[in-house]
Amino acid sequence: MSDNNSVIHCSFCGRNKDEVDMMIAGMDSHICDKCVSQAGDILHAELGEQPQSNPLEIAGKPEFNYTPAQIKAHLDEYIIGQEAAKRTLSVAVYNHYKRIGTVPVKDAPEIDKSNIVLVGNTGTGKTLLASTIAKMLNVPFTIVDATVLTEAGYVGEDVESILTRLLQAADYDLTKAEVGIVFIDEIDKIARKGDNPSITRDVSGEGVQQGLLKLLEGSKVNVPPKGGRKHPDQKYIEVNTKNILFIAGGAFVGIEKKISGRLNSSTLGYSKEVRDHIEDEDLLSYITPSDLKSFGLIPELIGRMPIVTFMSPLDRDALQAILTLPKNALIKQYQHLFHMDGIALTFEEKVFDYIVDVALEYKLGARGLRSVCEAILNDHMFNAPGAEHKELVITLDYAKSQIERSSLRKLKRVV
Ligand code: ADP
Repeated sequence: MSDNNSVIHCSFCGRNKDEVDMMIAGMDSHICDKCVSQAGDILHAELGEQPQSNPLEIAGKPEFNYTPAQIKAHLDEYIIGQEAAKRTLSVAVYNHYKRIGTVPVKDAPEIDKSNIVLVGNTGTGKTLLASTIAKMLNVPFTIVDATVLTEAGYVGEDVESILTRLLQAADYDLTKAEVGIVFIDEIDKIARKGDNPSITRDVSGEGVQQGLLKLLEGSKVNVPPKGGRKHPDQKYIEVNTKNILFIAGGAFVGIEKKISGRLNSSTLGYSKEVRDHIEDEDLLSYITPSDLKSFGLIPELIGRMPIVTFMSPLDRDALQAILTLPKNALIKQYQHLFHMDGIALTFEEKVFDYIVDVALEYKLGARGLRSVCEAILNDHMFNAPGAEHKELVITLDYAKSQIERSSLRKLKRVV
């Protein structure tokens, strides 16, 4: 217990604030980092759990055991389509962790970091890609929304908060956090408006971009462990971002125009015949970092995220596959939920087409599949626990009647 504010002791071991790396404050007591870690060990032992091991960290040295093909094969189990993005990401992640694991050799070239930008509509699987990789590698993972970040001193979150979250995801294990993955969503929303900095009045996005630079390039950043405002008694944790992989995602609405403009004006590379045959929706596959610059990302930031790949829009077949095929496909999830109540849930085949139709009708994309399933299954989920029937077949008629009654339809009437 602290006698007064100037002498803070750990309420458990009595160590003074100066003797420990970190002191966490409670209502009227404190606990030091050593006691927290010891308490964690006791918990694991009592609960019979193995502390989570990190495959990248063996005897303090990162080790990486997957080939790009193995990473891609794993992604294939969870993510439908998006072949180009999966391949690019697999190689980038492979190189990234190989680079971390390499013992420095004198005079060998230093391998640059391979942060990645994923460009594609919302709901096409960008977050899913990043999180699936992190789960596979068993490294800490966090998602941040670029739109909540502000320049230091403004209302909002400082860029350092990204690292606070990663630390939290790593249970404050610095070694783990320093090889984690950060997904920065909506990176396109901090683009500066217009290509020319002098004509823009919107500098806020650019300030955040500048802030992100130091994180992305690999530097030592002082991070408030609890986030938020700076606190006089709070010690900072120094996080080295050198080996943290940053994956940024954004819809970059309208970037096709920049791509087509570039293709049309470039005298090199693509002949007019080729350009005339590029369908609008294929334009994304021609994306290069220079298009991100035209969109309003600053060149320094693009330079630190050198790998750019794209996510294709999801067509009907892709949506249908997403519904039923991935390892944790929505339908499998619902079947499992009902199974836990002892109920076998099945669907008439046509119901899957119908679910996709409704998701397409509302332009809800893959994310919409869930809302549609919820609307269809909600009554059953309410009644099923404790019900007599142990078999449930969802027919097309039933699915249609549930959608007609649902708030989705009401939404349609209002629109
Ligand atoms: P984004 O980050 O591009 O906005 P998400 O990764 O959050 O999209 O996708 C939203 C949801 O849609 C995911 O949870 C997943 O269920 C589903 N989904 C989207 N794209 C795919 C895909 N290609 N394969 C499998 N599921 C997908």
